[in-house]
Amino acid sequence: MSLSSSEVRKIRNSRTWRDRVRPEQLRLFPYCRICDEKDKLTEAQEVDHIKPLEAGGDPFDPSNLQSLCKRCHVLKSAEENRQRMANMPDLAGRDPEVYSSAARRHKSRYLKRF
Ligand SMILES: [Zn+2]
Repeated sequence: MSLSSSEVRKIRNSRTWRDRVRPEQLRLFPYCRICDEKDKLTEAQEVDHIKPLEAGGDPFDPSNLQSLCKRCHVLKSAEENRQRMANMPDLAGRDPEVYSSAARRHKSRYLKRF
């Protein structure tokens, strides 16, 4: 099951995530895992889903979590976004159907003003 971005946001804003899962992960694994693999010790600030929620990863399963520093988290998210866009060109706004329905909505809003 994959989630929409608003569902992902809801999970990240949930009490379970903010007050329980996230702090617990950082308590158990206080150092960035990617840096650690390069023999570097960096304090983790982010909790990342190894398999992204958008791709159907489990939000609260400890085996799907890893602690990351800000830098590694940004790099990983950017790479995931790049891959998502490459796999689903529709989402990049290039789908003509999506574009024309947005244009129609815009036009009807415009016409309502008169
Ligand atoms: Zn790192």
